[in-house]
Amino acid sequence: MHPGISRRGFLYDLGRGTLALAVLGLSACADPDESLDTVSSATSIPGESNSTTTAPDTTTTTAPPATSGVAWQRVNLGFVSAYIVVRGGEAAIVDTGVENSEPDIEAGLISLGLDWGAVGHVILTHRHGDHQGSLPAVMAAAVDATGYAGAGDLAAITSPRSLVSVGDGDHVFDLEIIETPGHTPGHISVLSADASLLIAGDALNGANGGVIGANPQFSPDMDSANRSVKKLAGYRFDTVVFGHGEPVVANAATLVAELAASI
Ligand SMILES: [Zn+2]
Repeated sequence: MHPGISRRGFLYDLGRGTLALAVLGLSACADPDESLDTVSSATSIPGESNSTTTAPDTTTTTAPPATSGVAWQRVNLGFVSAYIVVRGGEAAIVDTGVENSEPDIEAGLISLGLDWGAVGHVILTHRHGDHQGSLPAVMAAAVDATGYAGAGDLAAITSPRSLVSVGDGDHVFDLEIIETPGHTPGHISVLSADASLLIAGDALNGANGGVIGANPQFSPDMDSANRSVKKLAGYRFDTVVFGHGEPVVANAATLVAELAASI
């Protein structure tokens, strides 16, 4: 490592406010040319940082390494997301995006070192087209997978194999099913206690780094939807992810509880 690296990191950590002071300190123990180099390097850190860091993948987002043996990954399909949860080499896919999303979901599996053969479960949070659109293709590719959805939405979902009806108290893999009606009658959310992860579908939405409730424009029963938010506030999880919006990866249950108290 170039001896300047650590100093540049040091200066970067200190930030602009203390940069001048730090440079003065360095100049006392280094030759003038090196001090000058340090200053110019420090001012170009953001560009340098980008050039030495792998660019963010716009298709998928990997969760921090799980200590529980459960890993999860967001498949960012644009305005909607699907999720992959992995335990012991077996995968569950939660939601499938609009039609033709299966290549992106496959890319997510591959990035986890898996393929369609590892997919044992496909769970739909609800029947809307941006969540069930690729279910036929996903079920066709994941030939060993069982599909699941809430009872109230089953009749409105197209699948090449009959789906298993799930509700409160059911577990799929390590995932707990929570009935969260309102956005649709059969909407379910999915909790991984081991990963401290709530997959809320459209029962909640991500907005401005926080959490908001179901979208009234697309939720015919807002009374039920609000009760579902209050129900979700009774669970423990650090992270909440949504059909729409950016994941909240810390203190998520607190934010959901605050939301529940406000509606
Ligand atoms: Zn929806």
